[in-house]
Amino acid sequence: MKQSVKLIVGNWKMHGVAADLVEARALIESVHDVRADCRIALCPPATLTDRMRQVLAGGRIELGGQDCHQAPSGACTGSVSAEMLVDAGATLVILGHSERRGAFGETNEEVSAKVEAAIAVGLEPIVCVGETLEQREAGQAAAIVSAQVEGSLADGLSERPFAVAYEPVWAIGTGLTPSLEQIAEVHAAVRSAMIRRLGQAARRAPILYGGSVKPDNAAEILGVSEVGGALVGGASLKAEDFLKIIRAA
Ligand code: PEP
Repeated sequence: MKQSVKLIVGNWKMHGVAADLVEARALIESVHDVRADCRIALCPPATLTDRMRQVLAGGRIELGGQDCHQAPSGACTGSVSAEMLVDAGATLVILGHSERRGAFGETNEEVSAKVEAAIAVGLEPIVCVGETLEQREAGQAAAIVSAQVEGSLADGLSERPFAVAYEPVWAIGTGLTPSLEQIAEVHAAVRSAMIRRLGQAARRAPILYGGSVKPDNAAEILGVSEVGGALVGGASLKAEDFLKIIRAA
């Protein structure tokens, strides 16, 4: 299914101090000519969320978090709850990014619990899945990603807005991307897994592609059937690059 409204999300990861808000300001000043049915979001580090809210106020760029804890509050030093993100101005949240699954050992069950926590406070989750290079070379990409989708989504999503982001681990930050055929194949598998997990309601949720999306490959990737948007890391840090990707949507 070809999605019409694309969702383009910038993930700043652990980059950005207050001085870098100049990039968010530059972006907001330049998005006026971008088609109205394209959604744009920025996910800064948690420390910048509230200040970025002030920069984006009244504009069309949405604000997201990069993760949240599954508990509403408690003895979880260093963590940020879903409610705290909402309090700081976020309306979306990235969950289950491969950097968290890899470095912090996040399981599908934990991601699913975070999804529940996010939707309980009205956040729109962007649930990330993706195979490692080893898994792709073993011919397991679609199966691994399908299992992640089925394990990471939560029942409540059938009633709520959400997105899934297909991000091959080997494509993140490497400059490598799958072929357009490989992207189409995995996106179709993701859609099937979403429908198996949540029923027909899952047809309306966009499936984003993420992994080395750049100004020069964005148009062809965003043109693939079932690619409903992009999750962009490195190329979202500079407004000029991110804008080129947004304009390709
Ligand atoms: C990401 O962090 O989700 C990502 C896709 O990074 P990059 O665009 O830098 O590969």
